[in-house]
Amino acid sequence: MFSPTPNESMFDRISIRYKLIVLLGLSAALALFISSAFTIYSTYLSESRSSLRVLHQLTDVISENMRAALAFSDADSARAMLASLHADPHILLAVVSDDAGRILAEYRSTALDAGREQVFKQVLRRHAGEDAGAPHGAAGVEERIGDGFMGVLHPIFFEGKPIGSLAIVSDTQLLWAKIREFVLMQLASSLLTLGLLLFFSLKLQALFTQPIMGLVNAMQAVARTKNYRAALASDRRDEFRSLYDGFNAMLAEIRERDDRLSRLATTDALTGLANRRQAMEIMQAMVTRAQRKGEPLGVIMLDIDFFKQVNDRYGHPVGDRVLQEIALVLQASAREYDLVARLGGEEFLVLCESGTQEATVAVAERIRQGVECRRIEHRPGGFLSVTVSLGVYFAVPQPAEARIESMIKAADEALFQAKEAGRNRYVVASTERA
Ligand code: GH3
Ligand code: MG
Ligand code: MG
Repeated sequence: MFSPTPNESMFDRISIRYKLIVLLGLSAALALFISSAFTIYSTYLSESRSSLRVLHQLTDVISENMRAALAFSDADSARAMLASLHADPHILLAVVSDDAGRILAEYRSTALDAGREQVFKQVLRRHAGEDAGAPHGAAGVEERIGDGFMGVLHPIFFEGKPIGSLAIVSDTQLLWAKIREFVLMQLASSLLTLGLLLFFSLKLQALFTQPIMGLVNAMQAVARTKNYRAALASDRRDEFRSLYDGFNAMLAEIRERDDRLSRLATTDALTGLANRRQAMEIMQAMVTRAQRKGEPLGVIMLDIDFFKQVNDRYGHPVGDRVLQEIALVLQASAREYDLVARLGGEEFLVLCESGTQEATVAVAERIRQGVECRRIEHRPGGFLSVTVSLGVYFAVPQPAEARIESMIKAADEALFQAKEAGRNRYVVASTERA
């Protein structure tokens, strides 16, 4: 038995089409998030590199011009050169120091507060301290990106000897503006992609859900109508094909089992004729129809003569074969629309619809002769034959006769008379008795 999981979640309760959409949406969102995070980070790296490069170029150019001023400790011209930096609002601080780390000139943007200025200068001094012993700036070009700033320290050489350095610090507003812009673009393109994906997944989910819904509908229809003949047609080639085939195979098996069970319930296993239950059901329908139409019905009851002796002499299996042979004679003698049934033991019933008494009697005589002439092999090369006695009752069923038992009883009584009269014959019951 299949049973739902006890800890059924909210996800289990939503329909399969929404599950698909949620799944597609979540995986797309995750993929977009991861790829966006990587691109944003790599953009940050390349943008910060290019910002530093610009700062390096600026420092390079000014260092070149600063060489003479530094060599002659000309603070005025150094200050004048640094003053040109105010054209760039992002430059926060520029400091020219001599080889002992003493500040010769500096430029300070109005945007720089005193606190941060101290921090930057401390870094510069520490830098000078690290280089103690060696002339300031001897360590070569240095760069640093910190919280809201980036700085470049450029050594200045004169005749091959370091004579000092130029440090320029700028804010990172430009960098962050670019990154912000990029993140917004990335966000917009991700949202657009996600929207398109959801739109298409709404359309595409039908590819998956339609065959499932087809199966669900077919199952519900079968459960409702109990019509196990309704097979699912599909020209698919994927896993749904196996599902459909499996479903159809299951229906076919149920159908086969149904047929087998109803065959077992309605036919006699030995002879393949209708059994008593089935015979009574069909006879009831025939009686009702004949009554309504005012047409006669012929009832023939039949019993094998001295059958017990056949069993005693040849054995039960031979007796069974005799029963089967008689069934064949009955089927051959009756007409297509007559009912032939084995009521039990060695008693048979033939019901002839809408004929004359003569026609019914002719059927009875045909049966009698057919049985009498039949040679039944009881061992290889050994044959036996049996006879039957028949009782015939022929009448238009009257309302009083609606109960089929009374008609059978009438035929049975005639059969008894046939036995009494010496067997291997038929007796027609008088209609007046009913
Ligand atoms: P009568 O002419 O008076 O009908 O004589 P009879 O021997 O045919 O009468 P009786 O009713 O005494 O015997 C019927 C026998 O049918 C008894 C039973 O063993 C046998 N019989 C009933 N059903 C079957 C069956 O399915 N197979 C076989 N082999 N024999 C059966
Ligand atoms: Mg009998
Ligand atoms: Mg008998």
